[in-house]
Amino acid sequence: MVHCEATTGMLNPLEAISELVSHYRKTFILDAMSSFGGIPIDMIKLGIDVLISSSNKCIQGVPGFGFVICKHALISQCKGNARSLSLDLYDQWQTMEQNNGKWRFTSPTHVVRAFAQALIEFEQEGGTKARYNRYKSNQSLLVSGMRELGFETLLPDPLHSPIITSFFSPKEPRYNFKLFYEKLKSLGYVIYPGKVSDADCFRIGNIGEVYQKDIESLLQAIGEAKYW
Ligand SMILES: *Cc1c(COP(=O)(O)O)cnc(C)c1O
Repeated sequence: MVHCEATTGMLNPLEAISELVSHYRKTFILDAMSSFGGIPIDMIKLGIDVLISSSNKCIQGVPGFGFVICKHALISQCKGNARSLSLDLYDQWQTMEQNNGKWRFTSPTHVVRAFAQALIEFEQEGGTKARYNRYKSNQSLLVSGMRELGFETLLPDPLHSPIITSFFSPKEPRYNFKLFYEKLKSLGYVIYPGKVSDADCFRIGNIGEVYQKDIESLLQAIGEAKYW
């Protein structure tokens, strides 16, 4: 399952699904791309067999590689399963195990270096819990400020993740996403177009080195860009 669904910003019900998975004795693969490091996940308690994430989301590194945390017993049985040369996780694992952490192909050295630094900063901040609290308070500040400016969220509050939020495009006839986007960009902020098939939205993400004052300045910029 996808944990934090970044198209809508929805946080899927991990605990409820983990109960189903264990009830039916299925293998549990979690796409934690945009949650690992930013939302606490107890892999053992939830019976997660495989967790997938990457360098460039809540760990706050630069883009360049993904990683998988999984049970030894499970990966050990995967030899020869991959139908892709590059995405052969078993082979990657074996190469790293047998060669002091060597990558199978050319290693993304600068990304690994940035990742190591990102992990230091992650520790300094206080780990997942501290980061979760910061993201969560940024997200609620964003939502309440946006509501004051007249915007509505796509999802009801209990479904929101602290990572990214979808807002409906205003129903104002004079609203034009492109103009709004360009104006905000000129003020120093880049927002995402929405991607929900049957709803006209845009998205605002708040992972990264973002603090309360940044959300406040963003809200001020949105107030300025909102000239309809
Ligand atoms: C960001 C994201 C991806 C894609 O990640 P890349 O860094 O583009 O490889 C996949 N799944 C989820 C849930 C994401 O948030």
